[in-house]
Amino acid sequence: MTAAVRGTRVSIPPVLMYHSISPSAEPDPHRLRVHPSRLERHLRLLRRLGLRGVSLGELLQARERGTAARLVGLTFDDGYTDFLDHAVPLLRQYGMTGTVYVVAGRIGGHNEWDEGPRFGLMTADQVRAVAASGLEIGSHTMTHARLAGADPATLAEEIGGSRQVLQDVLQEEVAGFCYPYGSYDDAAADAVQAAGYDHACVTGDYVPGDRFTLPRCYVSPRDTAAHVAVRLGRHHVRQRLSG
Ligand SMILES: [Zn+2]
Repeated sequence: MTAAVRGTRVSIPPVLMYHSISPSAEPDPHRLRVHPSRLERHLRLLRRLGLRGVSLGELLQARERGTAARLVGLTFDDGYTDFLDHAVPLLRQYGMTGTVYVVAGRIGGHNEWDEGPRFGLMTADQVRAVAASGLEIGSHTMTHARLAGADPATLAEEIGGSRQVLQDVLQEEVAGFCYPYGSYDDAAADAVQAAGYDHACVTGDYVPGDRFTLPRCYVSPRDTAAHVAVRLGRHHVRQRLSG
């Protein structure tokens, strides 16, 4: 494992960011829900381009070995129950994996941090089932907190506390962290490293970050395969321009 250095820019292949994967037609004011048929079209596109979707942990390990060129990171925030029903079978069918970022203090609950419709969150058994299916579980804090400007005690609880909860659930190391709302600052990123995580990702692909502020591309509910192809291409251009 290479030493992770805060402030050292890391150039990685594109990482796509999803939330809920569900065929539900209920209102979705926060634009969190991608239909499974749409996810399937995105996975088919990756396959057609000779790319394979993997967890962010696997992507970083491949990068260190120099074998990440044909990989794309797939990430799913919040840990909705629909993930097991609708995303896991598709990922398996296409021979791909991904990372699910779980809100450790809301396991078995719902997305009470959002105004509006309630989506169910996976129970501990479901989180273990996702891990057992070969996917990576990462932390998305205890309460889906905004971390920019948070005090040290809050950072310790949300970042370190959530890692401990998930490690207790999984009985294994949790390497990845994801900032809710993409809200972070230097203190938060330092706290992520201090809590023992290997890496962390933000929301948004506009800034090439370091290992604890890795960029991702948001996938909207209306994104066709063509939109995703454009996002993948844009990512490579950005990394080249900033590199
Ligand atoms: Zn979230």
